Amino acid sequence: MNFNYPAEAEAFRADLRAWLDANFTAEYQSMRSVIGCSMDDPDLAKNREWNAKLADARYTAIAWPEEYGGRGAGIMDQVVYAEEMHRAGAPSTVNLIGLSNIAPAIMTYGTDEQKHTLLPRMLRGDDIWCQGFSEPDAGSDLAGLKASAVRDGDSFVVNGQKTWNTLGQIANWCELLVRTDPGAPKHKGITCLLVDMALPGIEVRPLTTIAGESEFNEIFFTDVRVPTSALLGAENEGWRVAITTLTHERGGVAALHLGLRSQIRSLLDLARQTPMGDGRFAADDPALRQRLARVYLEGELLKLLSERALSGALHGRELGPESSLAKLVWSETAQHVGEVAGAVLGPDANSGSWGRDRVAMRSHTIAGGTTQVNKNIIAQRVLGLPRS
Ligand SMILES: Cc1cc2nc3c(=O)[nH]c(=O)nc-3n(C[C@H](O)[C@H](O)[C@H](O)COP(=O)(O)OP(=O)(O)OC[C@H]3O[C@@H](n4cnc5c(N)ncnc54)[C@H](O)[C@@H]3O)c2cc1C
Repeated sequence: MNFNYPAEAEAFRADLRAWLDANFTAEYQSMRSVIGCSMDDPDLAKNREWNAKLADARYTAIAWPEEYGGRGAGIMDQVVYAEEMHRAGAPSTVNLIGLSNIAPAIMTYGTDEQKHTLLPRMLRGDDIWCQGFSEPDAGSDLAGLKASAVRDGDSFVVNGQKTWNTLGQIANWCELLVRTDPGAPKHKGITCLLVDMALPGIEVRPLTTIAGESEFNEIFFTDVRVPTSALLGAENEGWRVAITTLTHERGGVAALHLGLRSQIRSLLDLARQTPMGDGRFAADDPALRQRLARVYLEGELLKLLSERALSGALHGRELGPESSLAKLVWSETAQHVGEVAGAVLGPDANSGSWGRDRVAMRSHTIAGGTTQVNKNIIAQRVLGLPRS
């Protein structure tokens, strides 16, 4: 099934494509992803420059309302946007978590002042945001978090540790969850604060992943005085803010298949070109063909799931189980692709971009909700099975 795009969406595509052709020049095409950048990295400066260019043309967060710099774009324009940015290989923002997760929470719970001061700077990449939710003993069970904040006059005094914090090494703002009422049931004593990372007492320690990159961090808070104006939503109502943030984390379902399917296409090409030593190529091997066919079909299944979500959205249905299903299929398929690449390329799969991707994709089944937790959600909320 393929969607017929309305004429307006095709007109938007033509404008965006022309703009990208003119502006996404070689100097930006060669910059590496902001995720692994350090503060003094020239690629970070390039990424910010590119982000500001996009924002000035209102091509950063097209679904945002116009008053915050978006276009109020509908779902089909968002799909076209994802396709064109992917086609060009252009990053859409330095605020990978800010735009998709944190901004919706600020739009929902923020004061007018928070919205009007923080969102435009986030959009242009003038500020970079990170999400301080997970702790060493609170990941899947996020409501078990222990970092604390105690009111003292017009400040909260924050102490504790966060971990797995993506972009913390370059972020100057953090959406932070803290426990403000230790006596309340665990979901009820949590508060969300928007924290300026320059405050005294905050220490960021980068962690190195198995891919050898510093993309996430531990953050330590020692007697950090955060003004009460940093509250996002009401005190002790932070769980609602967290849910709004995490719901949007899984919202990019319609675009998930794009990157993965192009990786599968490259793998199929490689299999046709990689000699097996007996005059045949990897793609001629009957056992490998089965595995290649399987990952190809998994990629197509993911596309159908995305289109199902899209079709639902076009008919006014809220995003339903597709987000959990798509996250599950996307993350597991990515790892299957890595395993099949190993079989096709042999030891060569351990170096270069495949080498990097094959280890980096191990985190896909953990980040943003683990496979096991996703399966629980699907079992209970989609299949109606009882809690174990
Ligand atoms: C690349 C990456 C980026 C991340 N970025 C951020 C970030 O920017 N900010 C942030 O706050 N966090 C971030 N995280 C953290 C992420 O949200 C957590 O890793 C995730 O929630 C899992 O928590 P955990 O690592 O503590 O594992 P745990 O929750 O301790 O889980 C350990 C194992 O137990 C299983 N398990 C746990 N509970 C259940 C259950 N009820 N039923 C069945 N199995 C269960 C899990 O599936 C897993 O296999 C990131 C993680 C990764 C990998």
